[in-house]
Amino acid sequence: MTQFSDLKLDPKVLKAIDEAGYTTPTPIQAQAIPHALEGRDVLGIAQTGTGKTASFTLPLITRLGRGRARARMPRSLVLAPTRELAAQVAENFDTYAKHTRLTKALLIGGVAFGEQDKLIDRGVDVLIATPGRLLDHFERGKLLLTGVEVMVVDEADRMLDMGFIPDIERIFGLTPFTRQTFFYSATMAPEIERITNTFLSNPARIEIARQATASENIAQELIELPATRRDGAAKIKREALRAIIDAEGDKLENAIIFCNRKVEVDILAKSLTKHKLDAAPIHGDLDQSLRTRTLERFRNGELRLLIASDVAARGLDVPTVSHVFNFDLPSHPEDYVHRIGRTGRAGRSGKAVSLMVPADQKYLDAIEQLLDRKLPRGTAPNLDIGKPVAETEPAKDATSRRAHSVSKAKSAAPAPKAEPATESAQQKAKPEAQDEQNANLYTLDDAKSARGRGQSRGRKDNRGQDNRGQDNRGAVVGMGDHVPDFLLREFRIA
Ligand code: AMP
Repeated sequence: MTQFSDLKLDPKVLKAIDEAGYTTPTPIQAQAIPHALEGRDVLGIAQTGTGKTASFTLPLITRLGRGRARARMPRSLVLAPTRELAAQVAENFDTYAKHTRLTKALLIGGVAFGEQDKLIDRGVDVLIATPGRLLDHFERGKLLLTGVEVMVVDEADRMLDMGFIPDIERIFGLTPFTRQTFFYSATMAPEIERITNTFLSNPARIEIARQATASENIAQELIELPATRRDGAAKIKREALRAIIDAEGDKLENAIIFCNRKVEVDILAKSLTKHKLDAAPIHGDLDQSLRTRTLERFRNGELRLLIASDVAARGLDVPTVSHVFNFDLPSHPEDYVHRIGRTGRAGRSGKAVSLMVPADQKYLDAIEQLLDRKLPRGTAPNLDIGKPVAETEPAKDATSRRAHSVSKAKSAAPAPKAEPATESAQQKAKPEAQDEQNANLYTLDDAKSARGRGQSRGRKDNRGQDNRGQDNRGAVVGMGDHVPDFLLREFRIA
């Protein structure tokens, strides 16, 4: 079996690996690192949990060991789809580069530009970024990508889901043709295949088995809840969830509970908290510093239940999660695999419990088809369905609206359009990926159009009055103050 010492990594990197407690490379590391060190492009078809981050970080650090950073011209670029993933790559870099003098900057939304600008001005070896924020900096003229020797695209399939592929293509075009490229994706959709054919040069293709087949140490269970009116489904699920958490007792050290919608994440977190359970939400609309803090608390064992959306939780590396719950069955079957892969990591056993109501049948069918087997059925303990829940459950609509507006108000990257007073059904149905994409894109749109919007927003009329919100009856567009009387006369038929 390959050992880390067999790979031609920088001794300083080997020392850091040793201190991190890793003895043998994972399959993707053993296969990708030799190619990467030879200077070849690498196409890694693997997902989180396989050790893929180190498979590109270790050779990257080794390669950059020689040479120095120049002002505003990063020597390497790592693109990740979400802020959390970018931050996770940055943490990995800190761990493995600690005995080197390499520098890094993390460019993610929700963080002030000033500090990031200063780091880039000084020159960095590794720039880790989300695509939207990177292009923001580029457009502000703060950054040159012509010095990029190595470019990494992580979680390309997620980039595709989030609509980042045009940004990625653009960024590829801004880097030198001679760069080395590491490209990672869990799946190879045709669009991803096209990008790799266009921008990778004779890559070493390394495919690691899907997690679905590897996660035998996760006990899966499906709880089918009875038919209910549409608006009652969430309430029944909340009751069932509490009953299961209660029954699991101390076996449930900590859990990630997935919901499909951000609104539901907020409602569930509130509801569990009201029932004296230690829960907090994480999703794309929450302020970045709050997201980071919540995650840190969860990692440290200070928070027991993390209620999450897919985008916020995708790829998060929390090594000791005892349980995963699907409060909603995911609409993309691959997300089921990603979600339950948060537990049962590194050889530990884990439990994944999914709740469903009859309306979710199509999602279940897709998941069982992907897994090529039926999920074992279980029952919710002590669940007295139909019992009136007068207690603390607030009326759904009111809560959802309130929760949504609170999270919007806290948002680090507000939606580009003014939020209407009430949330339309369409908005409620908007998938999280789309929202996150909007949040990320906003900073770019905002930078581009802030001036234009600023000019038009507070425009004054020719009397120096601010026209916004005024009653315009009696005025005729284009006539200013000089409206002939007959144009203002009302005609009534007697
Ligand atoms: P990743 O797939 O990059 O998200 O990594 C998943 C987890 O595996 C992280 O917690 C890493 O710290 C850990 N890891 C990475 N490489 C190794 C290794 N060679 N041996 C043991 N654990 C590792």
